Amino acid sequence: MSKGKVYLIGAGPGDPGLLTLKGRECLERADVVIYDYLANPVLLALAPQGTEQIYVGKTRGKHSIPQDEINQLLVDRAGQGKQVTRLKGGDPYIFGRGGEEAAFLRRHGIPFEVIPGVTAGFAAAAYAGIPLTHRDVTTSLAMLTGHERPDRSLSSLDWDKLANGIGTLIFYMGMTNLKLICSELIRHGRPAETPVAVVQWATLPRQRTLVGTLETISEAVVKNGIEPPAVIIIGEVVRYREELRWYDNLPLFGRCFLLTRPREQADSFARQLQQQGAETICIPTIEIAPPEDWQPLDNALQQLDTFDSLILTSANGVDSLFTRLSVQQLDVRSLAGIQIVAVGSKTAQAIEQHGVRPDLIPQDFRAEGILEALLAQGVDGKRFLYPRAEVVRPLLMESISAAGGTVIAPVAYRTIRPAKGEEMIRHLLGSKEIDAICFSSSSTFDNLQAMLGDDLHSLLADTKLFSIGPLTSATIRKHGCDVALEPETSTLDDLVTAMVGYYLKPNN
Ligand code: SAH
Repeated sequence: MSKGKVYLIGAGPGDPGLLTLKGRECLERADVVIYDYLANPVLLALAPQGTEQIYVGKTRGKHSIPQDEINQLLVDRAGQGKQVTRLKGGDPYIFGRGGEEAAFLRRHGIPFEVIPGVTAGFAAAAYAGIPLTHRDVTTSLAMLTGHERPDRSLSSLDWDKLANGIGTLIFYMGMTNLKLICSELIRHGRPAETPVAVVQWATLPRQRTLVGTLETISEAVVKNGIEPPAVIIIGEVVRYREELRWYDNLPLFGRCFLLTRPREQADSFARQLQQQGAETICIPTIEIAPPEDWQPLDNALQQLDTFDSLILTSANGVDSLFTRLSVQQLDVRSLAGIQIVAVGSKTAQAIEQHGVRPDLIPQDFRAEGILEALLAQGVDGKRFLYPRAEVVRPLLMESISAAGGTVIAPVAYRTIRPAKGEEMIRHLLGSKEIDAICFSSSSTFDNLQAMLGDDLHSLLADTKLFSIGPLTSATIRKHGCDVALEPETSTLDDLVTAMVGYYLKPNN
């Protein structure tokens, strides 16, 4: 059997966007991923489905898997001919025991590559607004561990040189010894008023940064409850933060939103919120399922040439349509000559992805808007195919029929309540970690209501509800809840903009 290979990859400090392109490529073709506590587990989604994922995380003071077992695991899996991705927080060769793992692999004749990562100290500085070197105040930098091996104490550090010979100091794993670090530096001549920043969970929306001096910081850390993981940055450069901070100034920084749409559809929404500094948690309250019976849609597709118009109102409907065409050995050519009406820009995009350009995109996304656009061009004697969700308002179908048109409306998908998620939602709402919940359709709220039952009002008491548009808002209000925000146009892009505006207001 051909030998496998191990890739020691730096996962970066937390923000998934800080993984290198080369690291990403390795993850994408991994057979096995072995990952640590500080490597963001979100990155695992880049590995192919079915990849073996092994957590060997260490939490402070507790090694869940001893280092020699990790070493052996790497050798074993690579020995089975596998491509092994060893994903380590930050950079593998900065306080990451990457050197020990690589040496073990070399001794066992296993080929390896090392792909550097953005180390926590550099990332923390960047995201806290601290240039680590600045020609006006310092030209040198040291990275240190504040947590030495048990057989050596911190006193083995050359405090005299550190205090007087180097400008900026970054301590990793230094929180337990923070007081000692500061007092040693002062004792060896560093001014007590030297600024210090402690950055916890750097680059993630839960990042917290505390600034003090060598004299004050250790007390402030206790008072503010800042715990590991955190890096400590010491030196005059810390003063630049006041002018250069940018991350924790973002409009949605520190806010946490619960997104309730299906995961695939929540992705770009989540990304937009994250770009504004927010943390997002996606627990869908709806799931898209196939209709109980495909026959009605399949029958309609067999007679496509009898229709004048095809009305598509969601990306799910578009997906079903093209999937069933393909199942029946048909393709887009069967749509030739049919007018295609797309409701909403996302639906239009979904259609265009299949190489088909919609003919009509009504401005108003609701059934009323579609109807107005269709009536304007005349419906009498025309046949409409409307592959729809299982539950829809009857307005469109009834009004077209009343005006002399024929609507064939087979069910193309159903929205169902997911089996999972209820417990997690209850826990999150109960722990008051969520600032607001975003609803993108009536069913996302209806299902939440069904999940929470009698506890709905008590669990939502401190959580804001954001709605995509008037119909969703009406559903929320029908259950006696308040809608804190509804954008002027019913798109997710507009909801993001409205959320930013909302939190820029002083009392929100
Ligand atoms: N190889 C890693 C360091 C591992 S040692 C790297 O290059 O970043 C673990 C220490 O790294 C933690 O105790 C903490 O000091 C620091 N650390 C890692 N991730 C961090 C983060 N997101 N925010 C702040 N400190 C972090």
